[in-house]
Amino acid sequence: MLTVVRAVEAGATTLKGVIDATGLSRLKIERALNLLEKQKLLVRNGQGFRATGLPKAVRPARQCGSCNACCDILEVAAVDKPVNQLCKHWQTGTGCTIYDRRPQMCRSFVCAWLQGHLDESWFPAQAGLVVHFSQDAVNVTVDDECPDRWREEPYFSKLVEWSLNGIRRIGNRGYATLVVAGADRFLLLGRTVVPEPTLFGTAFLPLTSDTFRFWRATSPEHLQRLHERIAEIERIRQEFGSCAIPENEDDDPHAPYRPALLRLSHHA
Ligand code: SF4
Ligand code: SF4
Repeated sequence: MLTVVRAVEAGATTLKGVIDATGLSRLKIERALNLLEKQKLLVRNGQGFRATGLPKAVRPARQCGSCNACCDILEVAAVDKPVNQLCKHWQTGTGCTIYDRRPQMCRSFVCAWLQGHLDESWFPAQAGLVVHFSQDAVNVTVDDECPDRWREEPYFSKLVEWSLNGIRRIGNRGYATLVVAGADRFLLLGRTVVPEPTLFGTAFLPLTSDTFRFWRATSPEHLQRLHERIAEIERIRQEFGSCAIPENEDDDPHAPYRPALLRLSHHA
């Protein structure tokens, strides 16, 4: 249903419009539309349908217009398009030359600006940033003409805000805030930037309300050990009011953690 909601948010007002935007079957779309209608989020009339109950911010007020940032900045494997290279199917004045048979990813893609989640300063063609939400992440892809744009304001503060929200919701559908700038990848932990996060995950501990100490795991077992040590640090903090935090980012802790941590705290 989420894909259908996104298509309606992006301005589809007919069944064909939603099929074009999502690539889903007529039956699936009808089911989702019926459900939205039942929830009074959608009204149908002779001209098609329109969203009613969606929050104002996500009503279909925006159009891509002069923007083609996603056809330029994002990777689209289905048409062999690498990151930061204008798609071979894009033509100035025409737009997508294979529009009717463009791949599913292109049909269903709606950036966060188009959805109405971001103000005008985030218009992708000017910001050089394409933001989209996936199930467990806010994904920011940066134009290689301005690889540090995401570190500038007003962008960085918004990314910090998202990151902190995503961290606070961990365990309750938390999400990560990820930035891809050319070959570089970053994970945001509030104001703390983790370069090249590993596939195994990043363990982290708050230092202030918006900064963190982090350790990048090199294996699932390493991640487990890091989490166990962090839990011990939290317990010691509760018990003694503070606990020294190991400096070395690459260390691989082994239980028992408490004696070593207390010794470290003693010398701190
Ligand atoms: S980046 Fe967003 S606004 Fe720009 S063309 Fe893609 S979907 Fe449209
Ligand atoms: S196939 Fe069309 S919509 Fe998809 S990236 Fe290329 S130009 Fe854009």
